[in-house]
Formats: sequence, C-alpha cells, structure tokens
Amino acid sequence: MVNKRRPLKPANYVPRDLVQPKVALAVSGEAALLNRTTAAAAERMFAAAAADGVMMTLASGYRSYATQVATYNGHVSARGQAAADTASARPGHSEHQTGWAFDIGDGGGACSFQPCFAEQPAAVWAKANAYRFGFVVRYPWMLHPITGYYYESWHLRYIGVEAAADMRKSGIATLEEYFGLGAAPGYP
Ligand SMILES: [Zn+2]
Repeated sequence: MVNKRRPLKPANYVPRDLVQPKVALAVSGEAALLNRTTAAAAERMFAAAAADGVMMTLASGYRSYATQVATYNGHVSARGQAAADTASARPGHSEHQTGWAFDIGDGGGACSFQPCFAEQPAAVWAKANAYRFGFVVRYPWMLHPITGYYYESWHLRYIGVEAAADMRKSGIATLEEYFGLGAAPGYP
C-alpha cells in the first residue's frame, strides 16, 4: 500500500518476480513488466475485454526508482514542484514501482493519459469489469482529497478478486478508506 503518506521501504525497492504479461503492449523495456500475480490477472482481464470487443493495451507498467527520479525531476523542471506533485509521484512513492499497478491504453492514443480517456471503451469497460479480475481504478473521480491524485481512469491496481469485489459491494472506492489508513492528500 503506497501513497503520498506511505513511501516504499526501501525507497529503491525492486519486485523480485517481474515478468512481461502476454498482452498487447504499447511500451517496451521495464514499463512492459508487472509482478507475476498482476501479470497473470492482467492477461485474464485483457482477454476478457477483447472477448467483449474492447481493445486494451498495457501503456505503462513497472517503473524503477531511477526512472521515477527522472520522470519526477522532468515535471519539476518543466512546471515547478507544486505542479509536479499533482501529476507525478515523488521517487519511492509510485505504485508503478511495486509491480502491482499499471496504466491501460486503447491502442488509439488520442486520449491516452488524458481526462477524455474516461469516456473511451477501454476505460468504461475497466470501470465496470476490472474488479472481476482483482483490480481497482486506484484514483477515482473527485476523491483526490483522499488518494492524493486527480482522477486517473487508466491507472489500475491489483488487490485480488476477493478484496476488489468486497470494495465494490460495500461502495468503498479508495484503498485508503478500505484499509482504514487515513487520507493521503499530500506529502507530510
Ligand atoms: Zn499509473
């Protein structure tokens, strides 16, 4: 469980079981990797989406500490730290470093990582069905005061089928609330 109040320990943590899932890839290298459990669940979910006629691609998976340093520093250089903190996790605070999270695309790209992705078939399908494969949309609409991030319709986090179904049934939309960990709107 990683957020702006709960950094990875150690900060340069590397999952031991990174693998490349057999799904449509929009990236290569480390970004095409997930941990073994998440990769297997992603394969099942992407196949189910395809069976429903929905194209889904892996747009960004694992991200190493070193890559997050470069990504975050790029945002800081371009826009300053306050704006960077709304768009990119600080190094050691990204779910992408855990291997449990990834971003989806739809193979088109026009709305990739943009607010309009929420209306694309891949995101609509994921919002309705991801829980069946153990995933949650980790940063839901309007819950940034709890998660620390504005709505990311493309960012999915594996928590297991049982927990994902339980969250859906109980109407709890964030892991912060589900695990009773308190809100993480910003860095301490
Ligand atoms: Zn993401």
